[in-house]
Amino acid sequence: LRRDPHQDFFHADVRGMLRSIGPVLVEHPEYADVVGRLCEPERVIVFRVPWTDDAGTVRVNRGIRVQFNSALGPYKGGLRFAPSVDLDVIKFLGFEQVFKNALTGQDIGGGKGGADVDPKTLSTGELMRFCQSFATELARHVGAAVDVPAGDMGVGSREIGWIYGQYQRLIGYHEPGAFTGKPAVLGGSALRPEATGFGAVYFTRRMLAEQGRDLDGARVVVSGSGNVALFAMEKVIASGGTVVGCSDSRGSVAEPDGVDVDALREVKGQGGSVADYAEKRSNATASDGSAFTLDCDVALPCATQNEIGPEEARALVDHGCWVVAEGANGPVTPEAREILREAGVGFGPGKAANSGGVAVSALEMQQNAGRERWSGEDVDERLQTIMGEAFDRVRDAAERYHGDPTDLENGANAAGFLRVAEAMTSLGVV
Ligand code: NDP
Repeated sequence: LRRDPHQDFFHADVRGMLRSIGPVLVEHPEYADVVGRLCEPERVIVFRVPWTDDAGTVRVNRGIRVQFNSALGPYKGGLRFAPSVDLDVIKFLGFEQVFKNALTGQDIGGGKGGADVDPKTLSTGELMRFCQSFATELARHVGAAVDVPAGDMGVGSREIGWIYGQYQRLIGYHEPGAFTGKPAVLGGSALRPEATGFGAVYFTRRMLAEQGRDLDGARVVVSGSGNVALFAMEKVIASGGTVVGCSDSRGSVAEPDGVDVDALREVKGQGGSVADYAEKRSNATASDGSAFTLDCDVALPCATQNEIGPEEARALVDHGCWVVAEGANGPVTPEAREILREAGVGFGPGKAANSGGVAVSALEMQQNAGRERWSGEDVDERLQTIMGEAFDRVRDAAERYHGDPTDLENGANAAGFLRVAEAMTSLGVV
């Protein structure tokens, strides 16, 4: 870690992992030499993204792709377009992705990438040109058997379509398996947009079942109102729960009778905020503060990192919250996790709870390789099986290595590490 002294997100994540795997190494001393190799990405690619804005001015951003670990299969992980993107954030997300992908049981390695651009400030034409310039450099580093990027914050199926379009033009042939999260017409899997949000709710339902509870009648706060959040809300409601609050980067909304997801999606789709949505609703109240200070039984942070700090965690505990499951990557800070743990609030780590998206991306790779298209019902059934098996793997490792089947954070780290360490050991020192 001394090699990169200013990478705080990445260091915090590595430290968390190291704390969890001590008991695994006692049982498997043969994996000890894997640890140092695991913390060093196989490859870090940093590149210039030049493009021309609508005024004719040449602009430049930084693109990054971290190919972290390919022991289990091709690097797999999303592309994030956001002003906050830097090497620290992408290494943190890439490190998480290695273990998340292992937990899905699919044969995929871990990677992550993105650019420090704010897509919301770009016109449609500018964003397409940006994606094409980004893809021009990315193309030489990816491929169906090498590295298979998908979307993440700021990168949806439209942007993946544009990136894939430029890639296809450069390589000169069709290779749909080189990207996932594509539009359906280009070979995108049914249910890929829904998968992370739906998967997080399937995982949450398993957590609640262990407590003898379910979502029927539960009051749920879901932060964010982007891809993951909206589909998580949809599945919460389909499971009998009420979404009593949500948020976006501009504020939050409380609506005790339940958020209307279709109405929210429409407002967000037109570039509006949750406050604009609240204005149209008789029982909704907008605020500048966090959604996690609301009364709720279940909290699903689905927006971004560090949304739940000590203050929000204490509020959740005071309100008697049963379970917090991470739909986003790293939304609950280490201090907040400690507060939840001490209060006995169930915690579902993102590594496991939000792995549904990458799991369906792996199913998209399978469909593209076999030139098949599976129905939404078929993919949903497989997703539920994958999330259930991931939960079992995590709970069993928590019990075996940490003596507590509810300690899913340590369980996820231990179970993910075991699968990657076994693959790395089998490959020899590479
Ligand atoms: P989107 O860009 O679609 O949505 C992000 C949402 O979070 C937006 O509504 C945004 O607000 C909101 N937001 C951003 N910052 C804040 C903040 N500080 N407080 C409250 N809300 C905020 O991204 P996704 O839904 O795709 O991703 C969300 C999270 O899930 C990320 O951490 C991502 O890494 C993770 N994830 C995503 C996967 C996927 O399949 N998409 C897979 C696994 C993890 P606004 O609408 O105002 O922009």
